[in-house]
Amino acid sequence: MKKLIQILFIIPMLTLSACGQSNKKEVTKNNNKTMGNVINKPNNPYYSNTDTKKLNVSNEEWKKILPPDLYAVGREADTERAFTGTMWNDETKGTYYCAVCGYKLFESTQKFTSSCGWPSFFEQDNKESITFKLDKSYGMIRTEALCGRCGSHLGHLFNDGPEPTGKRYCMNAVSLDFVPFKESSTTETIVLGGGCYWCVEAVYENLDGVIKVESGFSGGTVENPSYEEVCTGRTGAAEVVEITYDKTKTNLDEIFKVFFTVHDPTTLNRQGADVGTQYRSVIFYKNEEQKKAAESIIKELNDNKVYSSKIVTSLEPFKKFYPAEDYHQNYYNNNKEKPYCQMVIQPKIEKFEKIFKDRLKK
Ligand SMILES: [Zn+2]
Repeated sequence: MKKLIQILFIIPMLTLSACGQSNKKEVTKNNNKTMGNVINKPNNPYYSNTDTKKLNVSNEEWKKILPPDLYAVGREADTERAFTGTMWNDETKGTYYCAVCGYKLFESTQKFTSSCGWPSFFEQDNKESITFKLDKSYGMIRTEALCGRCGSHLGHLFNDGPEPTGKRYCMNAVSLDFVPFKESSTTETIVLGGGCYWCVEAVYENLDGVIKVESGFSGGTVENPSYEEVCTGRTGAAEVVEITYDKTKTNLDEIFKVFFTVHDPTTLNRQGADVGTQYRSVIFYKNEEQKKAAESIIKELNDNKVYSSKIVTSLEPFKKFYPAEDYHQNYYNNNKEKPYCQMVIQPKIEKFEKIFKDRLKK
């Protein structure tokens, strides 16, 4: 879906007068703001990620506080050069705040990559986040977008964005501070491949302590492969799920027990009728703890001859997880009537629910 949106937007973007390309004063200083910096604004007493009270600070005062490039855009409505920095096409999960005052403006889930070269969003965090003003400057009629708390200029709003809103918030990267989503100390993720990800996802969705399950691909040599590419078996990628869980409610041991209950870890590159390396049984470990826990349970199961043949699950160091296309997410719940769901997924869920009946989400 993301890819489709990108393709759809390349064509119209090229012909549009984007954000403020025609503004006479362009901020030329390259904004080398790197993604993921921790925000620390010791010189800005108005900066807060939590205070929502509206600010009324004079430009004179802001000029003393803000870096010149941010002052020029935020307080004098200048426009930075397109393709400034890395924010315009970054897809890291996290939150975008007003760089002037710290007010929350967008979530990364509201962002899309537009070829206009400015960070673009199709929706704002909430209706207070951003306010609008008619902008008739430079012989154009545009809608200016301003921070809902401090009133600083952010960019413009256009009506040529993607579904579901059709809006494009075309923002200056210098106006935004980005804070990546951080797993809390009680949250952990692990990436597992147990054949078709629809099955594995559907099972873990019901386990108590699991916060999120996302279907996707890991391993292999192709950057961001599509489902069709993975299906060829030539990318080296496996169908996997990324499980985010609360360590205070479940643990690695239980996650692995479920894993070895609902798939067959003894068939090399195969689960039932699904054949190919993309269906291999695999644990992508992110740290030594996950690797040791995996080795230990595999040894235990082999020693106790739980299966009639030896476990062939491979342990591979985690490199990257690529989420699958939208229609693969939550597939079982959205397609229960389909024969594959009834014949292949349903029995696995029933087996899981029987064995882990006390551990199901309420
Ligand atoms: Zn602000």
